[in-house]
Amino acid sequence: MDRWRRAAASAGSWRRGGSAQGGGRAGRPDALPAEDGDGPAGDRTVTDGAAPGPQPPHSAMEQPIVFFGPGPSKIPDQVLERVQAELLNYAGTGVSVMEISHRSAEFQQIISGTETRLRRLLHIPDNYRVLFVQGGATGQFAAVPLNLCVNGKADYFITGTWSKKAAAEAARYLDMQPVLPATEKFLGIAGRDQWRLRPDADYVYYCDNETVEGVEFQEVPDTGDVPLVADMSSNILTRPIDVSKFGVIFAGAQKNMGPAGLTIVIVREDLLGRGLPVCPSVLSYSTMAKAGSLYNTPPCFNVYVTGKVLDWVEEQGGVEEMSKRSDTKAKLIYTAADQSDGFYVAPVDGAARSRTTVQLRISAGAELEKKFLKEAEEVGFKSLKGHRSVGGLRVALFNALTVPQIEKLVKFLGQFATQNRG
Ligand code: PMP
Repeated sequence: MDRWRRAAASAGSWRRGGSAQGGGRAGRPDALPAEDGDGPAGDRTVTDGAAPGPQPPHSAMEQPIVFFGPGPSKIPDQVLERVQAELLNYAGTGVSVMEISHRSAEFQQIISGTETRLRRLLHIPDNYRVLFVQGGATGQFAAVPLNLCVNGKADYFITGTWSKKAAAEAARYLDMQPVLPATEKFLGIAGRDQWRLRPDADYVYYCDNETVEGVEFQEVPDTGDVPLVADMSSNILTRPIDVSKFGVIFAGAQKNMGPAGLTIVIVREDLLGRGLPVCPSVLSYSTMAKAGSLYNTPPCFNVYVTGKVLDWVEEQGGVEEMSKRSDTKAKLIYTAADQSDGFYVAPVDGAARSRTTVQLRISAGAELEKKFLKEAEEVGFKSLKGHRSVGGLRVALFNALTVPQIEKLVKFLGQFATQNRG
């Protein structure tokens, strides 16, 4: 069988379900190892490296899966199907998009198309550059100080696991000062009267949504003339943002934009060309900007898939629609917890509750949480385990999760509470 016919045969060899919003799927072998920086608590359950390929339909696999992976996360089924359809022969080239040169006309079209869509969706002003880089959001923890250090000081809002890591990384390069009073547990954001901001800082850094703890800023912090840097890895494209308020925005792709391995940086042009001379070229914003993100080989396939996800977001109604859905989904979960007579607890302070990564506890304790996770998995709700550092449950409500899916989860939460109330 030649390559094209093999592809067609394998594409038809198992079926998946999918809703108009990119919902549940059936028949997909979804046995995923899940323990990265954002992975749930507990041990790996799948043999390392044994990624299953497409498999024939199996009755146990027919159950629709609602996948709450915290990152990597669900990519809409419509996007995966489009990728699958052109995987072996991209745009009539006769080769896969994974195989074409990053210097080819085809890839140039892909990368500039992806940038154009992102600019449209986020209304990115012309004086900002969009960079496609590698190294993850963690790479940006170093890239930010290396690119922005001038006076040698920067102020960091530490509101959870990721901003704490970013601050520790920055402290290797400059005088890092926390903006907020120190805290053991991250369950809210201290009021403005407690902020310490230095007017001569090179930048102020914050994480817009702390994925592990479920702490999200409801407003952009006002830092006056000091450039503001935001990690939006887990809430980009879930609400409109005014890009002009920021010096730098960065986000790993793997929650709301595409596969892990691509990081997007949006940087104001006047901030290019500063920083520390030791900044590695591959992390340098100005080097990447000058080279149109092609200083070295970019993660081509990821840029391509991300372009398709951005198409999907536009088709669904754009960031404004994603924002409405995010609000609805989050409200459903928090209301279920708040009205459960204390069976479920959402521990984050109401004013800082995340709309995309909801931290939930079962107040009776870890044993019941374990039972919940097991029973949830049995009916198709996958990957609801909290991060290993905080435990409990986490509901990742990224854009590919639909309102009807969350309504279904809320029903399950109610049933479980009724059956297990002490
Ligand atoms: N920032 C946030 C908000 C995150 O959720 C994560 C984990 N995905 C990171 C940074 C680190 O990202 P990466 O694993 O891509 O380096």
